[in-house]
Amino acid sequence: MSMQEYIEEAEKDLLHTYNRYQVVMDKGDGVYLYDLGGKKYLDFVAGIAVFALGYHNEAYNNALKDQIDKLIHTSNYYYNVPAIEAARKIKKISGMDRVFFTNSGTEAIEGAIKTARKYGFLKDGKNDHEIITMNHSFHGRSMGALSVTGNPKYQEAFAPMIGNIKFADMNDYDSVEKLVTDKTCAILFETVQGEGGIYPAETEFIQKIRKLCDEKDILLMLDEIQCGMGRTGTMFAWQKYGVKPDVMTSAKALGCGVPVGAFMMTERVAQKSLEAGDHGTTYGGNPLAAAAISKVIDLFEEEHVLENVNTVAPYLEAKLDEMVAKYDFIETRRGVGLMQGLVSTIPVNPIINRALEKGLVLINAGSNIIRFVPPLIIKKEHVDEMIAILDTCLAEYK
Ligand SMILES: *Cc1c(COP(=O)(O)O)cnc(C)c1O
Repeated sequence: MSMQEYIEEAEKDLLHTYNRYQVVMDKGDGVYLYDLGGKKYLDFVAGIAVFALGYHNEAYNNALKDQIDKLIHTSNYYYNVPAIEAARKIKKISGMDRVFFTNSGTEAIEGAIKTARKYGFLKDGKNDHEIITMNHSFHGRSMGALSVTGNPKYQEAFAPMIGNIKFADMNDYDSVEKLVTDKTCAILFETVQGEGGIYPAETEFIQKIRKLCDEKDILLMLDEIQCGMGRTGTMFAWQKYGVKPDVMTSAKALGCGVPVGAFMMTERVAQKSLEAGDHGTTYGGNPLAAAAISKVIDLFEEEHVLENVNTVAPYLEAKLDEMVAKYDFIETRRGVGLMQGLVSTIPVNPIINRALEKGLVLINAGSNIIRFVPPLIIKKEHVDEMIAILDTCLAEYK
């Protein structure tokens, strides 16, 4: 079947919840994707900040193949070695004490919300605790995660949301403090907002929130699903700020393509929140998923991924800044490490479509931001290759 025929069939059979780009991706190699027709694309999306190690990483693939032949699933009623090893490694890179494995980011957020509510409940026995989160945030699509997502467009048709969620503004400490009451059990935000437009938390903001949380016994919960796992040049983005969250979430690059997530917490919170019977999952942390996490963390070290991010990111920033200087309709660049956005005064989807035609995969973050979240193994020459194509696309709108 041709690519076009597959697309027509997909549009008949799949529930239409995505306006997809008109391409069927077939295989990947390193930082390149190939469609069904054999056309090659430079990938600066990595499956939305997922495929950090690039496609067809042999050591990763072999670890998965070995685990498939050994044991794929057992349920959480038994221990399994990959999950035990993955948890040990996550603790080491995050400094957290307890790990719960999920199958996705949104489920990691559900776990964090339940942790916060139980923490509040154990303190005063009440059921009216509040969570403060941010406008323009994105935490996922399940009902709890959607309820803490500060985007009315995603929520409108699905009301009522879960209750007692309040929205403040990222990097506006007063807007957060104003919402705090004696019912507040947690403050939740992305260390670097992703879908909402690549907004990094400012150091002063995050430090003052940490202090507020300490004073009022509120949990600081950081969503590192997109910005974590090395993307900003440290294993987790919060590690740059001199603060530590009480609860954090991870997913996306955590399994580099195998659907996984996790929420983690300090021992103090673990002792005062979820206990046996409070939470569960059939698949979470199954041997196959955990083997992926375990290998990903090993490969980050063996392949010096953080060093590469810290080498290539300043180069990417400089090259993107050249685009800001060159094109009037590109207003500014925002981001940290290999999580960058170009802010445009015109809708970016036509630009992204044009780039795709020219063999470059890009994605938006909102209607007017081009997002750059490439595999973390890209080199300067890939940045040059990307910029050369992007430049010709932007030139069409001059
Ligand atoms: C992608 C994302 C989620 C949701 O993760 P899924 O795996 O799609 O459920 C939550 N928070 C942030 C910051 C994300 O980028």
